[in-house]
Amino acid sequence: MKRAGKYAVLGLAAAAAVSVPRIAQAPEPVVALPPDRTEICVTGQDPHAHAGHADHADHSQARVRAGSRVAEPGSRVSPRVAEQVERELDRQEITGRLLRGTGDRKRIHVPVHFHVLHDGRKGKITKKAVNEQIKVLDAAYRGAAGGADAGINFYLKKITWTKNKGWFKQPRRYETAFKKKLRKGGDSTLNIYTAELGTELLGWASMPWDYRKSPKQDGVVVHHASLPGGKIKDYDLGYTAVHEVGHWLGLYHTFGRDYPERDGCAAGDLVGDTPSQKEPTNGCPENAPDSCPAWGRDPIHNFMDYGYDRCMTEFTEGQVERMRNAWERYRP
Ligand SMILES: [Zn+2]
Repeated sequence: MKRAGKYAVLGLAAAAAVSVPRIAQAPEPVVALPPDRTEICVTGQDPHAHAGHADHADHSQARVRAGSRVAEPGSRVSPRVAEQVERELDRQEITGRLLRGTGDRKRIHVPVHFHVLHDGRKGKITKKAVNEQIKVLDAAYRGAAGGADAGINFYLKKITWTKNKGWFKQPRRYETAFKKKLRKGGDSTLNIYTAELGTELLGWASMPWDYRKSPKQDGVVVHHASLPGGKIKDYDLGYTAVHEVGHWLGLYHTFGRDYPERDGCAAGDLVGDTPSQKEPTNGCPENAPDSCPAWGRDPIHNFMDYGYDRCMTEFTEGQVERMRNAWERYRP
């Protein structure tokens, strides 16, 4: 937790992870960013964060802490990919409805390979902590915290511990390398990696439609201290993994920032029953704001928002439908 880079300005009232064009255009930027700086990197010297950002733009999703100024690794989906995905999911939904008929939901059982990266001193998560994380993940997708039951269950297949200082300390830089070495299973196997993600970034994930192009890169990376009982205040109940797995299953953020050049209210998450939301939630407000003209107050308790862990309790039925459609289409 010692690395507050020069762009890591904390304590802003504005919420986390505004997409970078908006940082640059924000009326009262705390730090004036150079206009060509398309992404603020986590480590301050992570080449992966800067080089070829466009190539990675449709690659992954992320969660950051409140007040962070760090950009999400490739968190924006290109319009081309987004449109293609929606076409594929629409088709899937039509077929799925015909096939389901009675509306019976078959439960989906997802094996999890859990990869602990550490440097010999830090990050050496215990088996108990991993088991706790799997429990939290499984419970969230059963609707145990209050939301819809997704009918998706998770069980631990195997834990690996890998001592590698570089991988642990600079996971974005070495992502390709450690995934290539460690990833197990096919498109329906979840691989979770834990590493040191710095002081702002909590995790990131690949999307299901990325699998066909980059099967080895499929999976979720979370901060080692975000597991249940971890050391990150307000993000220590294990909901970072729940959020990232939501991306892994095809969900966008409720604040709709996954499309470039569109306001959160206009962009949305392409799910019908999550109210639109202009900005990510900061912390855990007592009363949900109503930031968009469309119906409903901001979904501050949704797992796909950025609230504190204790604020997060639910997926909606619409999100469940989307995840299950994406599963049938991309991870059958
Ligand atoms: Zn996210």
